[in-house]
Amino acid sequence: MIEKYYPYEYVKNIYCIDYKKLWDMGFRGLIFDVDNTLVHHGDDSTPKVDRFFERLHKKGFKTCLLSDNEKSRVERFNKNIGTLYVCDADKPNVSGYEKAMELMGTDKSNSVVIGDQIITDIRGANNTGLPSILVHFIRLPGEKHIGKRRYIEYFVMWTWKCRKKYRYRLGDIRRKK
Ligand SMILES: [Mg+2]
Repeated sequence: MIEKYYPYEYVKNIYCIDYKKLWDMGFRGLIFDVDNTLVHHGDDSTPKVDRFFERLHKKGFKTCLLSDNEKSRVERFNKNIGTLYVCDADKPNVSGYEKAMELMGTDKSNSVVIGDQIITDIRGANNTGLPSILVHFIRLPGEKHIGKRRYIEYFVMWTWKCRKKYRYRLGDIRRKK
């Protein structure tokens, strides 16, 4: 069932999301994947990402990092951000998503998942009953090699784009310029 891999929305990157709209819709908890969603795989956070989280927290959002990586990697990334996190999440297992909501004090009605992989991040959100926003994975300039999984993703997202009722299920949260 290919629908299990469908996100609610698809945007270019985390900065293209209209967070005010999400807030006005009643969302209060944002669950973020780390690698290739917030920074390139394995990288530390950047001042830009730190400021991004600062703005979200100022708006009133609770945020939680949900990563399959080990504690030391997530803590290193989180050093200047200081937000909640769940490591060794074993996505698409639902337990990590539930733990993230528990930490944020939110629930399925007001939490949303943001990640770059449909097989882990998005599938897990669907397993948990959470809406999700797929972001295009971060790629370094000149980086040509992409894994096999990405070709599966391209195919799945091609079918998603053809099926209108699955698109914009949060009412189009792309930030208008
Ligand atoms: Mg990722």
